[in-house]
Amino acid sequence: MIPVYEPFIDKTEKEMAFECIDSKWLSGEGPHVKRFEREVARYTGVKHSVATSSGTSALEVALHAIGISSGDEVIIPALTNIACAISVIRVGAKPVLVDVIPENWGINTKKIEEKITSKTKAIMVVHLFGHPVKMDDIYPLAKKFNLKIVEDCAQAFGALYKGKKVGSLGDIAAFSFYGNKIITTGEGGMVCTSNTDYATRASSYRNLYFGQEDKFLHSKIGYNFRMSNIQAAIGLAQLKKIDWIVKRKRAIARLYREELPGLSLNLENSDSRSVFWMNFVLMPPDFPYSAKEIIGVLAKNGVETRPFFQGLHVQPALINVGLFNKESYPITEHASENGFYLPSGPTLVDKEIKFVCEKIRNLENITI
Ligand SMILES: *Cc1c(COP(=O)(O)O)cnc(C)c1O
Repeated sequence: MIPVYEPFIDKTEKEMAFECIDSKWLSGEGPHVKRFEREVARYTGVKHSVATSSGTSALEVALHAIGISSGDEVIIPALTNIACAISVIRVGAKPVLVDVIPENWGINTKKIEEKITSKTKAIMVVHLFGHPVKMDDIYPLAKKFNLKIVEDCAQAFGALYKGKKVGSLGDIAAFSFYGNKIITTGEGGMVCTSNTDYATRASSYRNLYFGQEDKFLHSKIGYNFRMSNIQAAIGLAQLKKIDWIVKRKRAIARLYREELPGLSLNLENSDSRSVFWMNFVLMPPDFPYSAKEIIGVLAKNGVETRPFFQGLHVQPALINVGLFNKESYPITEHASENGFYLPSGPTLVDKEIKFVCEKIRNLENITI
């Protein structure tokens, strides 16, 4: 089976994990965590990083740190991981949706302003599939309406916008280190910011709001969202490979475009460096088979793919709490129905990519 995504793990991760085990500091707040935070901050170009237990908890911590709370509204794209909506809801605020654009699957910046109300406090941009959102459209809106910018960089570690790393482009950012993200710690996340107050709050919130002066006097209700020292050790090993991973991801995307010239695959914007987290294909409307049928045929040929996720406005969990009543986001709906991901892990070799492409090119000859 050609897997849809496998992380690049070798003896470096083993060595770092064993080093951590030998040190006997396995829990959170350990030296490897602090080192991982410092190195991610340096790589991303921010002053502070706060490691967390997941990308979802990083988003929640980030929203809390910038002061989002009940009664507030946060604008998020309709097409994204449900963690974006959940994190907004968990801090007591309301997610408000905006459709995406097919060029890079990021939020449609032209449609944000019509959703801004007196309650809107932040815009959460998501660099979907590792393609940076056009931030130059976001900055004037944030300024005009006094909004904070939160970046969800879960799929975009290492991507650049106008020469700057994603994660350093807004007020605060969240990364995920889940197994299929650009780098992994198994489970894990990171909050990045250059604002010292936000970093202090993020760090308290993740760790039960232990007191600054008297450790055991807690001033607020926090969470245990700590990353363990072993996870951070694995993260440090992954960081050593980041340049190779980004290069390989970009080479895989290039090969797909060369091998499948007739298919709609995302291109890189000239002002950005995308990390092509997943190579997302949108089948043309006149294609004889549906995305679902194609996924089935590829599976029979030993090629694992993933159907695309559904928009937030159709999620029962969110509709059941009274959100997005009969709202419609056509671009999101079209992508969910007709799109799927091709195998995209950094460990895939050219021969495997070419095999996948050959199976896709042969689709028209297959009877389903
Ligand atoms: C993976 C992902 C998350 C959630 O990260 P977890 O580590 O799984 O909690 C959030 N947003 C986006 C865009 C993601 O891809």
